[in-house]
Amino acid sequence: MSLEEDIKEYALDIGFDRVGFTSAAPFEPLGQELDERNEMYSWISKNLLQLRKVVDPANVLPAGKSVIVLLWDYYKKAIPPEFQGKVGKAYLARPYSKDRILPAMIKLFRSFLEKEGVTVKMRPTMPDRQAAARAGIGNFGRNTFIYAPGIGSYVAIVSMVVDRELEGETFELEDRCTDKCQKCLEACPTGALYEPFRMNPLRCVSFHTYGTGNFPMVPAEIPRETRKKMGSWFYGCDVCQDVCPHNSQKQKLNLPPDAFLEEMASKFTLPRLLLMDNEFYSRKVQPFFFGYIWDKKFLQRNAAIVLGNTGDTTAVPHLQEALEIPEEMVREHAAWALGQIGGAKSRQALELHLERETSSRVREEINIALEED
Ligand code: SF4
Ligand code: SF4
Repeated sequence: MSLEEDIKEYALDIGFDRVGFTSAAPFEPLGQELDERNEMYSWISKNLLQLRKVVDPANVLPAGKSVIVLLWDYYKKAIPPEFQGKVGKAYLARPYSKDRILPAMIKLFRSFLEKEGVTVKMRPTMPDRQAAARAGIGNFGRNTFIYAPGIGSYVAIVSMVVDRELEGETFELEDRCTDKCQKCLEACPTGALYEPFRMNPLRCVSFHTYGTGNFPMVPAEIPRETRKKMGSWFYGCDVCQDVCPHNSQKQKLNLPPDAFLEEMASKFTLPRLLLMDNEFYSRKVQPFFFGYIWDKKFLQRNAAIVLGNTGDTTAVPHLQEALEIPEEMVREHAAWALGQIGGAKSRQALELHLERETSSRVREEINIALEED
């Protein structure tokens, strides 16, 4: 058996759903794209050179000859209603959380390669989607996600550079979207999908839920108009994938329950997330969500926004309590949320707190909320 066959068999055996190979040549279409969209990415300008570096796998492994691309279908179990429309399916499957299923599979796979004498290197900044398309195991949808034939777009992509020539066919990127379909672009709540195959991360709800304020190069604020458009999304956003006809078959399947998620559902209420203490965050929340989040305040902010968007007056006491949280960011968004909910109790909570609030940012948010009420 060839090394390619051994690799494929092993990957499928331990739970990956697709395996492909492509050369370690630079992903130049991505390079051109980054050059053309230089201005759109000016916020990342300090790291722009580094961003351009992702184009060439040689920057990951100078002796790299091929890229192995693995897909893992992360939507194999039912999502409890408590999480639907609130947390992206990719995060519910914990693919990126330390010591969970996917990282364990990657570890196994890497040690298999190493036992075969293959040198392997990975970087979180690999252009995974371009690699999957070039390896012929997925096509780009107009929503910029990769669609694996027979699975859909709910896939995690893992790519690694290796020092072996692995035979893979060469594929052209294909547009397999249904003729004239624009459903994803039309459904995107923020216009982040501003044209087919183009997405502006600074408008994307999903990106805002974990990137804004958290990544040093990203503007610290989720714009007010975006907060409203986040709707019920606390972490991630699946709108442009959920409306896609290529995912509809998958959504109709009667998937088995996920015992872990069902256990978590009762614990992950929005008020609890808003008011969580360090222990709940470090033991339950942080290991569960994508490790990009480094501080609980970002998730508390998201919880405040979503509670504000519910318009539910039962959230007022929780938001009022959040006005006492030392983190300015959380108080600011709790004030915004109270303004969204409105009504006498919200107004009273805001007025009462205004007298004691020392942060000018929070005071400004309270004043705006009171004016809008
Ligand atoms: S994830 Fe949500 S906000 Fe981002 S592009 Fe898709 S629909 Fe738009
Ligand atoms: S919704 Fe339509 S345009 Fe968007 S990715 Fe799916 S098929 Fe393509």
